[in-house]
Order: sequence, then structure tokens, then C-alpha cells
Amino acid sequence: MTLPLRPELVGLTPYGAPQLDVAAMLNVNENPYAPPPSVVDAITRSVHDAVEGLNRYPDREFLGLRTDLARYLATESHVDFLEPHNIWAANGSNEIMLHLHQAFAGPGRKVLSFAPTYSMYPEYSRDTVTEYVTLPRRDDFRLDMDAAVAAIADIAPTIVLVASPNNPTGTALGLHEVRVLAAACAEVPGGSVLVVDEAYAEFRRRGVPSAATLLPETPHLVVTRTMSKAFALAGGRLGYLAASKDVVDALRIVRLPYHLSSITQAAARAALAHHRELQAQVDEIRAERDDTVDWLRAQGYTVPETDANFVLFGPVPNREEVFEGLLRRGVLIRVVGPEGWLRVSIGTAREMAMFRNALLEVTA
Ligand code: PMP
Repeated sequence: MTLPLRPELVGLTPYGAPQLDVAAMLNVNENPYAPPPSVVDAITRSVHDAVEGLNRYPDREFLGLRTDLARYLATESHVDFLEPHNIWAANGSNEIMLHLHQAFAGPGRKVLSFAPTYSMYPEYSRDTVTEYVTLPRRDDFRLDMDAAVAAIADIAPTIVLVASPNNPTGTALGLHEVRVLAAACAEVPGGSVLVVDEAYAEFRRRGVPSAATLLPETPHLVVTRTMSKAFALAGGRLGYLAASKDVVDALRIVRLPYHLSSITQAAARAALAHHRELQAQVDEIRAERDDTVDWLRAQGYTVPETDANFVLFGPVPNREEVFEGLLRRGVLIRVVGPEGWLRVSIGTAREMAMFRNALLEVTA
């Protein structure tokens, strides 16, 4: 049978890191701590109520959930201007990104990002028939701001997409950098939105601000977040963003009707009501991250500054072999980033001890 597959998809394999049942799963930046029993009960009760009404479609505008998300983000980022109409949500920030591309990118348009970065970014472009352009980051993985401003003027992207903290490097943007990128986007004829992907924001070090603080002065700024990481809710599939009402209204055009199930909405609202319990170990994860950075540096590796729940380290001359050696010892990490680098997610103290021991053995 000949399938009329789009030519650019021929021979491609689906995106995804290995899902293996090993002792230390340190490859997809999950929170290693399962929800505590009190939160399991609260989510179960909330989902039970939703199930009783499953004969009806869910609330298409999910205003209850958007109100709760606005309240959470306002507290977390110390901002006081967020209303439900500034919030949008979807099945993971992956779907949030797809909505943004469906609304603001597309054939004949360009998205600009800064490599190395999250490996799904080119796929959002591919799937919306958009041209994906990257600028290289500097050696320390920060942005080359002069080159970024010049590229925005030169290629006129309709979306500038930058993760902060960046995956896989952990690098966070300063507010000054966000302002400079936003100013460059504001000059693009026909308009350009600046998307700051803050999937890992809750892990940032003290004093590192969220781009959300700049939303009132920057109508074309979009800040995306997720409940998959600090919230320990990767299986719940809930991503969201904050932006101007005009941006949110554009996304309401392209979303599928009822894209957020009643069950998802109920689980997310219960989780938001218990965000402190769900994020109880975030400080612990941060401390474990900082210890991992120190330890890797003491072993002679280069480790960029990281504000996320993962650490990139190198040089690792034979990274595939090291990856396999760790896996044989029950430690699953990620081969990602430029040649010669590996990324490890921060797990429990026990998992990180396993990682350190395994790495010493494999590289002995
Ligand atoms: N952005 C970044 C930078 C990520 O690393 C990830 C997940 N690895 C996502 C977005 C998507 O996460 P989710 O769809 O679970 O919200």
C-alpha cells in the first residue's frame, strides 16, 4: 500500500526518550517524588466528581482552572495583574506550543530559537509547516544578544522561542535579555511573539526572576509553564501560559473543542489546591542539583550554571558508551545536547548516589 505521507515525514521515527523500568530514571526531568497520600486522596475525590458528569462535554473555556492557574502563577512569580483571560491551558506545554505555532506560525513563516535547546522545538515547526531557524548559543550556553537582535531583524520570525531555564543546558535568561528580545520582536513588521518557555521555572535559584513580571509592559510576550516538573504531575498532562488577552483569544481559535477533558481539569484543580504539598521537595531537588554540579566539577567535568532540575556535563569523549555503562548499572540518563555532553535529571539522594557511583565505575 502506498500511503500519501507528507514527503518530509518519510522515514522519521516518533519523538521520545526510552521508557525503561530501571532503578534510577533520570532521563526526562521528572520530579522523582510521587504525590503524597493526602494529595492522591484530594485528586481522586475531585476526579470522582468529574466522572459523575462524564455524559456531558467538559467546560470548553475551563474558567475555573484558568482562575486557579492565574492565582498560582501570581503567587509564584510575585505578580498581581493576572486574570483568567490572561491564562490558557492544554494537555502539557507541548500542546500549548502547538497551539502557539498553529496561531502564529505556519507556511511561509519562520520560528527562531537558540541551539542547543529543547529537541521538540523543530517538531512543532515541522508539524505546522513552518521554517525552523536556530542561532548557536555562546560557549557558556548563554545567548549572544547582538546576534539574536540582528537575526530577529534579518529573518523576521513570527515566533521567537526561548526556554528559560533552557533544556538541556539549564541556562536561565535575565530580565534584561527578555526585554532586549521583546524590543527586537516589537520591531518585526507584521508582528512577532516572544515565547519564553518556563517549564522548569520553579527550580530557578533565588533571585532569578520569571519573565512573567514583564507581561504588563510587553503585550507580545508569552510565558509558558507546566505542571509536569515541579508539580510532580507529568502523567496529568497539564501545561499553561500567561499572556495578553489578545494572544489567548488567538489560541482559542485554533484549539480543538473540548481539548481539556473534565478529568484533566478536575485533577489539575485539585493539584493546584495542594501545590505546596506537591512541591514540598523542590528545595531538596535544588540542593541535590547544586551538590551534583559541585561533584561533577570536582571530577573535572565542565558544567554550565543550571536553574533547572537537571545538569549537563562534559566533555564525555565516548558518551554513548558511558550512557550504556550507566544503564547496565540501573541508571538511565539522556544522550542529548552537543556531541560530548550528557544530561542527568535530578532524582532522590539515593538515585543521585547511584548515578555518582555508576559514573565513577564506568569512567574508571
Ligand atoms: N518545554 C521544555 C523546555 C521541556 O523540557 C519540556 C519537557 N521535557 C516541555 C516543554 C514539555 O513538557 P510537558 O508537555 O510535559 O508540559
